[in-house]
Amino acid sequence: MKVNNIVILIGFLSILSSCYQGQTADLIIHNATIYTCDENFSIHDAMAIKDGKILQVGPEREIMNGYDCGEIIDLAKAPVYPGFHDGHCHFKGYALTLNEVDLNGSKSFEEVVKRVEDFESNNEFEWIKGRGWDHTLWEGEEFPTNDTFNLLFPDKPMAIRRVDGHAALVNQKALDIAGYTAETIIEGGYIEVVDGKCTGLLLDNAYDSLAIHIPQVEDDKMLKLIQDAEQDLFEVGLTSINDAGLESKDREDFIKWYSDGSLKIKDYAMLFPVKENLDFAKQEKDYHNNNLHIRSFKVIADGALGSRGACLIDPYADQEHHHGFLLRNLDEFKEIAEAAKAIGYQVNSHCIGDSANRTILEVYEEVIGTESDHRWKIEHAQVLAAEDFDYFENYNIIPSIQPTHCTSDMRWAEDRLGSERVRLAYAYNDLLEKAGRVVLGTDFPIERTSPLETFYAAVSRMDRKGKPEGGFQFENALSREAALRGMTIWPAYSNFENAQKGSLEAGKDADFVILTKDIMLIPYADILNTFIDKTYLDGELVYSSE
Ligand SMILES: [Zn+2]
Repeated sequence: MKVNNIVILIGFLSILSSCYQGQTADLIIHNATIYTCDENFSIHDAMAIKDGKILQVGPEREIMNGYDCGEIIDLAKAPVYPGFHDGHCHFKGYALTLNEVDLNGSKSFEEVVKRVEDFESNNEFEWIKGRGWDHTLWEGEEFPTNDTFNLLFPDKPMAIRRVDGHAALVNQKALDIAGYTAETIIEGGYIEVVDGKCTGLLLDNAYDSLAIHIPQVEDDKMLKLIQDAEQDLFEVGLTSINDAGLESKDREDFIKWYSDGSLKIKDYAMLFPVKENLDFAKQEKDYHNNNLHIRSFKVIADGALGSRGACLIDPYADQEHHHGFLLRNLDEFKEIAEAAKAIGYQVNSHCIGDSANRTILEVYEEVIGTESDHRWKIEHAQVLAAEDFDYFENYNIIPSIQPTHCTSDMRWAEDRLGSERVRLAYAYNDLLEKAGRVVLGTDFPIERTSPLETFYAAVSRMDRKGKPEGGFQFENALSREAALRGMTIWPAYSNFENAQKGSLEAGKDADFVILTKDIMLIPYADILNTFIDKTYLDGELVYSSE
């Protein structure tokens, strides 16, 4: 090369670099450990952000020399991950729990009664509502009856739901309001009757039909609750959620709240396939409104395993001749799936039992065939027959799973399923191998909101006390990389949102979290002692521990 040319080249390079010098960023974080969750799972030192988007992620020098910037944060090597994404939860359901008696973790029925009494004496609600009891934590593990509550509250209706939301205990006053007697039959539900008398225990549709009589929270109170809930979610590091089932009134409310800027967490909402929602979907199709995204239907195929409402091919191991039940007939499932396909919506179906899973997988097969990229999902995919795992691979179906369900249910899962069938339950790694991706979530308020608990349960298969040692069916634990992808880029992919978010790459939304410890490296037990230091949504600080 001639000297002249070298001079020209140097000149050209210096123009290029001065160009970069001129570029401004709003925020630079550096001296960090940034898990990008990109294709190669690369880790970088620094990231530049402008107008809520990532300008560049890269080596320390390159970023620090590349931009003029107002705010520069030295993270002293602290770990940064894409904002966490809960792939299956109930946003409004969680917000409502802020208004109800919390029965989670009650160690006996007496404790439930005590908590309800304390709550009642401090509140003036027309109905007493609660959630979270779990009879499998009590001695004897028997379902409760309402006798005590009939005596305590003869004139005030009361409904307390089991932790899985598929069973409830209500008192006589509530049964009277709903008009339930020992003779009442509700399709897709069960009213327990012993010695010709209702015990107050209701399953699935039997509770849903009664709940119609519970007064709704007024609109302005609801917004306050939901904003409090949103802040709780930022605090645990969530920037995105998949909201698993909106009624049409909820859809209208959320649209209003996102339109006027009352909410900003990224919400991919699934609509229950009721007429008003179907009409909305036909008209609006893939619907975006600020950070609200609607393009799917939520279908509920069966109940839950704990309350034996999950639909199994062979009977329950701990209840003779009992298979659980499907909540709709096959033609209804097909009709919804056809309608969704015509609109270009996804179908996300709650399937717990192997029979429910198979029924819906067959419907998917029939309706979408091998045409790829519908990204239809099975929510929970909890118990599967061995031969049914292939559906996920053959039809590009995505399992949306909840690792804390596994570690909550493992105490009694074998009782329900027996020692062979339980090996095919909560089979997350087997699902990953077939589907190529899994979406992780909590199903809050059924489980707690924390994505770190999800991560811990997914990789360790242990409960919070570190039991069982070595993990429950550990062969189905996920690697840390898979778990992190399952909380970031894979749920984004499953929503058709992966071009905008889910990994920390140039051009994508600046949604990220800074943690106190690196969950990719520390021992399992330390994961639960890790905290969110800061949460950023679209480049804006929405939570700080300071
Ligand atoms: Zn759910």
